[in-house]
Amino acid sequence: MDPLLYLGGLVVMFLLWIKVKGLDYVIVHQRWIFVCLFLLPLSVIFDVYYYVRAWLIFKMCSAPKLHDQRVRDIQRQVREWSKEGGKTYMCTGRPGWLTVSLRVGKYKKTHKNIMINMMDILEVDTKRQVVRVEPLANMGQVTALLNSIGWTLPVLPELDDLTVGGLVMGTGIESSSHIYGLFQHICIAYELVLADGSLVRCTEAENSDLFHAVPWSCGTLGFLVAAEIKIVPAKPWVKLHYEPVRGLQNICKCFTEASENKQNTFVEGIQYGLDTAVIMTGTMTDHAEPDKINRIGLHFKPWFFKHVEGYLKGDNTGVEYIPLRQYYHRHTRSIFWELQDIIPFGNNPVFRWLFGWMVPPKISLLKLTQGETIRRLYEQHHVVQDMLIPMKHLQAAITRFHQDIDVYPLWLCPFLLPPGRGMVHPKGQEEELYVDIGAYGEPKVKHFEAKASTRQLEKFVRDVHGFQMLYADVYMDREEFWEMFDGQLYHRLREELGCKEAFPEVYDKICQVGLLSDICNKLRGTFWQHRGSEVPPDLKARPGVRGKKHHWPSLDGAVAPTLQWSPDRRRG
Ligand SMILES: Cc1cc2nc3c(=O)[nH]c(=O)nc-3n(C[C@H](O)[C@H](O)[C@H](O)COP(=O)(O)OP(=O)(O)OC[C@H]3O[C@@H](n4cnc5c(N)ncnc54)[C@H](O)[C@@H]3O)c2cc1C
Repeated sequence: MDPLLYLGGLVVMFLLWIKVKGLDYVIVHQRWIFVCLFLLPLSVIFDVYYYVRAWLIFKMCSAPKLHDQRVRDIQRQVREWSKEGGKTYMCTGRPGWLTVSLRVGKYKKTHKNIMINMMDILEVDTKRQVVRVEPLANMGQVTALLNSIGWTLPVLPELDDLTVGGLVMGTGIESSSHIYGLFQHICIAYELVLADGSLVRCTEAENSDLFHAVPWSCGTLGFLVAAEIKIVPAKPWVKLHYEPVRGLQNICKCFTEASENKQNTFVEGIQYGLDTAVIMTGTMTDHAEPDKINRIGLHFKPWFFKHVEGYLKGDNTGVEYIPLRQYYHRHTRSIFWELQDIIPFGNNPVFRWLFGWMVPPKISLLKLTQGETIRRLYEQHHVVQDMLIPMKHLQAAITRFHQDIDVYPLWLCPFLLPPGRGMVHPKGQEEELYVDIGAYGEPKVKHFEAKASTRQLEKFVRDVHGFQMLYADVYMDREEFWEMFDGQLYHRLREELGCKEAFPEVYDKICQVGLLSDICNKLRGTFWQHRGSEVPPDLKARPGVRGKKHHWPSLDGAVAPTLQWSPDRRRG
């Protein structure tokens, strides 16, 4: 009885404390209480549910059978939208809080939500070395299946919850990207439902323009319903070499050399200060030296970035063998280093042993429960940015990051950028080595101001022909945005495929300053519709308009609609 009374007393005191301080104060300043008591257990329930579901579906082989039906359902929704007059833009119906990106798109409330309930792995073809997946299949699911049968994706972005759709339509990167490129570069086919409801497959050879335009378009060219992705044989271990490096020049030199060396399957740097970093290089191996095995994924192990920092503090190099899947998800438990701001004692050994198995809380649940105050605090006093910079400008870039935001650790991940005609490619016709500089945390510069400081960084990135990842807060104006990204192919396809009436422009969808212009643009579209029978100028080249059959070969042949222009169709 005594322990029960004691516990009851504690609960009463806790509730009184919340009453005195106010719930808002507790959620903002002692967020860990809420996270530990509610979000961690909920996250476990979520994970177990999704794991069992994915396992059952794969075992019953039901995904391929259901897939076609799900695609038809999306086509039906798009056609219904069209029949109703296409009054608002369309977007995926996945709630904004469920995504990894910190932004919660307000457009979800105003646009027509197309429900895409597709989260399965459809087929693993080891002969062709290809896996075919639905867009909501996530990285945790993919590694769980592929690694268990001896295969892997050549580029496997770290966080379990990142989805194939998000990684194709946004972007994805991993420490093997210096060999294979970004996530989009390991994809060999996309299947999309277009604005007219037709289903289209695109590859390098078939509908090649669309294939190149899809990555980074953030769902503004069509709905992804499946992707075919290359797979490569996997080995059970990663032999990882840790090298502490001091001096900025030295860091840049060592990191560039490691990234240029194709013998390294994995290359990653964590920079702990302007002059200190640890550079890690790894290869996959079949065997491990038993005394050097480190199972970093076990719940009681230190957070990976803290473990790595140990090599810097001790000023010693080291070699370890890490199980492949645990290596891939090395930053999952601490969400890189974001979790230290939410659970400050999360890396304490007692916490790790007792509760480490529940960590991390789901990013989606963190977003769902953050409330307006925390969201604003985060926006103003927290940076989450990934800037992609040509490797030759690495030193200038790190100096710039230091002056403008001073956030450490910085994540350094090299990648190869092949020439292309989509939104993101190097300036010339040659492939070029780039580096993703990821800054996640609280800026230490006194003069930090979210908009002004980010704009300064964005200008630097444009000047060196770099790119900003679009999941983060983007403060560029439209002109600056299209100076950074190549919009030629993208805009042409939006005209040809009738996207201008169906989806917002990517800038309007993701940019801070673009959010308002999104609404204005749609109003302008509605204005055109009210003007009567004349075809809006941007629709003149649209396939199907004025009775032309559209030229995108469709997978569902006769069932696919060919949009015929008629004034009343536009008004519904
Ligand atoms: C905390 C954090 C950690 C991160 N870690 C990594 C990392 O380790 N490695 C890495 O590479 N990146 C990382 N990122 C960036 C990440 O790659 C992008 O945020 C990614 O685009 C988000 O993936 P998501 O699955 O949540 O996609 P979403 O945010 O759901 O989607 C991204 C865009 O694609 C569109 N889209 C999604 N599915 C479809 C579809 N089926 N049809 C049409 N459009 C669609 C959405 O509308 C949206 O515009 C991280 C981001 C954050 C905030």
